Amino acid sequence: MTRIIAVVNQKGGVGKTTTAVNLAAALAEAKRRVLLVDLDPQGNATMASGIDKRTAKPSGCEVLLEEAPIESAILHTPAGFDLLPGSRDLTAAEIKLMDMLARESRLKEQLAKLGERYHTILIDCPPSLHLLTVNALTAAHGVLIPVQCEYFALEGLTSLLDTVKAVRARLNPHLEIDGLLRTMYDVRNNLGNDVSAQLAKHFGDKLLRSVIPRNVRLAEAPSHGQPINLYDRESRGAIAYFGLAGELLRRDRAVGTAAAARHAPVVAPAHDAGMATEAPPSIASLLVR
Ligand code: ATP
Ligand code: MG
Repeated sequence: MTRIIAVVNQKGGVGKTTTAVNLAAALAEAKRRVLLVDLDPQGNATMASGIDKRTAKPSGCEVLLEEAPIESAILHTPAGFDLLPGSRDLTAAEIKLMDMLARESRLKEQLAKLGERYHTILIDCPPSLHLLTVNALTAAHGVLIPVQCEYFALEGLTSLLDTVKAVRARLNPHLEIDGLLRTMYDVRNNLGNDVSAQLAKHFGDKLLRSVIPRNVRLAEAPSHGQPINLYDRESRGAIAYFGLAGELLRRDRAVGTAAAARHAPVVAPAHDAGMATEAPPSIASLLVR
């Protein structure tokens, strides 16, 4: 089943785009079929994936407004994942959507047309809780929240969690928090430890174990139009995003195994030689840390 994950935090510059692009690339290396949806009018995820946001047409704007079929807008990127590009036009799309019917579920309806083509769909959200982000939350199964390890890290998380609750109540009852991800962690100061302690206290096991360090190679990669695994795969940033992909994959597998156990037949079949099993991904050694 496709898992749709919205990368959300209305706070600007916390690492949403860096996380969406590099997680998409790491999952693609692990042989997952991945679609990255750039839902931010800044179009940063599009550029960081090596696609020019000024020429990528049709884009997410036309798709949301039903002016172009979603299949016609999806592009393949050099890192092996697919991209629904974003651009400034998304601002206009957001305004036009205001007056439309089912305005919150436009993205969900469009992604449904892709069936089971992808294992994972990641949505890079803009730094706001307005209609584009509400569309992402309505379409998503899970929310991934990057949190910058700085003094005001918790600020704004309450309004974000309130929005998640409101969407759950009215639009998408199954929406889950997949996890909080610490980004731009600086080992040279104690602030990261303090922020980690606060996050652990408030969010318990929703705080992901993976931590993304502050790493200059992660900041450089977008200007080369490359995810970190293509730009510098030995860097600490690349290793951290491989680790995050591994953590999410392992958790998905654990959930899948538990669900399968719940639905397992009481009498096991005599043999299951005909059952297809997924080959382990080639990058498994990197992902399992
Ligand atoms: P916005 O809210 O504007 O969409 P964002 O939450 O998507 O921002 P990013 O664009 O991913 O945040 O990151 C903000 C800036 O910080 C960018 O210049 C990015 O290259 C840099 N950056 C992100 N993560 C790291 C990191 N771990 N180490 C160093 N620089 C980083
Ligand atoms: Mg961004």
